[in-house]
Amino acid sequence: MKNTSILLIYTGGTIGMKQDPETFALRPFDFSQILEEVPELRKFGCTIDTYSFNPVIDSSDVDTAFWVNLALLIKNNYTKYDGFVVLHGTDTMSFSASAMSFMLENLEKPVVFTGSQLPIGMLRTDGKENLISSIEIAAAKGADGRPMVPEVCICFESYLYRGNRTTKYNAENFRAFRSANYPVLAEAGIHIKYNKSFIRYPQVWGKELIVHTNLDPSVVIVKVIPGMTRETLKALTTIPGCRAILLETYGSGNAPSGEWFTDVIREAVENGKIVLNITQCHAGSVDMKAYSTGITLLKAGVVSGADSTTEAAVAKLFFLLGQYSDNKSIIENLQKNMRGEISE
Ligand code: ASP
Repeated sequence: MKNTSILLIYTGGTIGMKQDPETFALRPFDFSQILEEVPELRKFGCTIDTYSFNPVIDSSDVDTAFWVNLALLIKNNYTKYDGFVVLHGTDTMSFSASAMSFMLENLEKPVVFTGSQLPIGMLRTDGKENLISSIEIAAAKGADGRPMVPEVCICFESYLYRGNRTTKYNAENFRAFRSANYPVLAEAGIHIKYNKSFIRYPQVWGKELIVHTNLDPSVVIVKVIPGMTRETLKALTTIPGCRAILLETYGSGNAPSGEWFTDVIREAVENGKIVLNITQCHAGSVDMKAYSTGITLLKAGVVSGADSTTEAAVAKLFFLLGQYSDNKSIIENLQKNMRGEISE
């Protein structure tokens, strides 16, 4: 780890929060206190520099401007550091990690997101272990001297996941994240065991990092529910300014078979909206050819989101809508596995 340098970026979240003695509510506190809480960081053989967002935020306040700031911060420090650790609230960590995966094209260095369920100052905190493992992973290099995990990932409770495959699935348990459709990239036991065959390595090393900062959040999520009416569907799919609809369907991509449903969706497509179909299930993939209700959607112009998480689909749509004005290019790219976010 000698000669390795890591930039530790604090954005906010529980990991750096403190209990207000009067209200008992958790509030963000100064980043310098994180270093006081984890003197172990000084024992690392590598250089750890720190950067704190100002103000720090609860991750419920994350927006596209925050993502642009974070991406630019990584870009501006890219040549100076071997890896980046981003301390972030868990609530929207999967959204932010997904967004970074699309915004940072040709990434060849680790960007490891982590946080905790309990503040780092608490006795039973999960924050220390998460932080220490994340730094070790961000600093790890293979025998060829290249980074072990040159991806945007999330390190949480002994597991390293591809960021754009994760979902926060537990609000209380220390194991807060899951990656149902993709294996873990590494597991931290006595040693950190890397599953190299699942890690995405560049085909050709040495490409220049391209940072995309044009994001368009004109996306509406429509979650199909039993009893949904034509009026509700129509209202949601005709929201002014919306360019894409993320349709969260049942099972392998199914929706009500009534003509009214397909008619409203077809109308949305004819009116220039992109309709992307992902499943409400936590694992598995959309396959619109499996049932006749799915085939009807396919015929209406709906695009399959395959086994994408909601978080990755949202980030990919923001990214592609920001890159292209024509739907053809957006649809073409939606069907491509761009950053390991869908299975081929
Ligand atoms: N509300 C906090 C946040 O996402 C929760 C956490 O950090 O775990 O910022």
